[in-house]
Amino acid sequence: MRHLAIIGSGPAGYYTAEAAQKHWGDEIRVDIFDMLPVPYGLIRTGVAPDHQSIKGVSRRYEATALTENVRFVGNVAVGRDVTVPELQSLYDAVVFATGAPNDRALGIEGEALPNVFGSAAFVGWYNGHPQFAGLAPDLSGRHAVVIGMGNVALDVARILAKTEAEFAGSDIVAHALDALRAAAISTITIVGRRGPHQIMMTPKELGELMHLERASPRVAPSDLPPEADDALLEPGLRKSVAHLRSFAAIPESERADKSVEIDFDMFASPVRLLGKDRVEAIELERTRVEAGRAVGTGETYTVPADLVISCIGYRSSPIPGVPFDERAGRFANDEGRILPGLYCVGWARRGPTGTIGTNRPDGFGVVEKIAEDMDGGALGPRGKEGRAGFDRLVEERGIEVVTFRDWKKIEEAEARAAREGAPREKFVDVEAMIRARE
Ligand code: NAP
Repeated sequence: MRHLAIIGSGPAGYYTAEAAQKHWGDEIRVDIFDMLPVPYGLIRTGVAPDHQSIKGVSRRYEATALTENVRFVGNVAVGRDVTVPELQSLYDAVVFATGAPNDRALGIEGEALPNVFGSAAFVGWYNGHPQFAGLAPDLSGRHAVVIGMGNVALDVARILAKTEAEFAGSDIVAHALDALRAAAISTITIVGRRGPHQIMMTPKELGELMHLERASPRVAPSDLPPEADDALLEPGLRKSVAHLRSFAAIPESERADKSVEIDFDMFASPVRLLGKDRVEAIELERTRVEAGRAVGTGETYTVPADLVISCIGYRSSPIPGVPFDERAGRFANDEGRILPGLYCVGWARRGPTGTIGTNRPDGFGVVEKIAEDMDGGALGPRGKEGRAGFDRLVEERGIEVVTFRDWKKIEEAEARAAREGAPREKFVDVEAMIRARE
């Protein structure tokens, strides 16, 4: 028997467990640890609450979770309840599937002003992540600024723009729905430091902005390159740019019916955030794109900003003693191998890029690396204790483990508490989650 510890129960963690089962069959025991009492990582706390069909992928993870050789070990924080060296002594291999939970900093003046948030915090707030449930953003101002031209910026802008009715069927948490219902936001400026041909937004997600009840997107026609240039783009980006072109073509008469504007401010790089007691405006510098890079022109201007959410990417959390690539914000690794016995997968390996599905080949790839090391003798002989050894630590330390069976009770309680038409009302604090299993 071989023993695998996976830290993190998001897509990368579960695909790795699935790959391990396929590779070793009944010869492997997998423990998937999560610091929260609930599984699925970004599927629960990252994917937008109004994108329920994407969340359906968790049924596949549940199928893996319910097999005999895979076990969910919730409410256990590696570093607090158990150390990495302890896990290494108990399991043949330890895999970090810990994602990239920290916001990249803008690194500009004013970033610490109240009502300026990174997307990890803001998305965590409306998705009920216990760490961010108490964020309490002030949505009473008219102007919101969203920095970045990726899908997270799109999620955030869309959530700010939607009416209460448009959240029907979503699992947005009650505290966020209440705050959004009372919000006064009428302009959402999406700031991009490069132009239409460099956006990271994917066409399906961008197209949603055309169908919002009270909001309409605006792109300045002068920001669009000649249409003939679109032919050189890869098909996905070409479709996204076609959406931008249709946003630019919306007649003013159609906009008149809408009370919220989503304004794309391209070729604009954040210089500083301004304000006294909280953020009031953002200073931007006009850019032009040279050889694919944003170059400042020296021309600056300010845009009102009562709320700022920076959606410019994420970093993984380093773990003392584990090699980390500071510049890239992820573990230092070679195709998922940090050292023989220690691996990483998903965003912890690649950085915050790609779709949920990208994690599947990633999971299979890391299992190949582990198998290579195992077969080559780098992981030593069989005989590690695995879960029996961990269970002994649980007893000794009084760690309160939440099992998959417990999670199913939490899940049922969340479904019972759902408002009409919603799939669930999430518990937003750890204690409430733990109590719900009783
Ligand atoms: P992303 O796609 O990498 O976009 C980040 C954006 O931030 C880029 O436009 C980037 O501009 C900009 N940026 C970075 N540093 C900046 C700075 N200092 N100042 C101004 N702008 C800056 O990242 P993401 O939106 O966080 O998404 C992460 C991953 O999750 C992506 O793969 C995304 O597709 C995926 N995701 C998918 C969905 C979905 O499918 N529905 C939803 C959410 C997220 P430059 O290009 O100029 O660097």
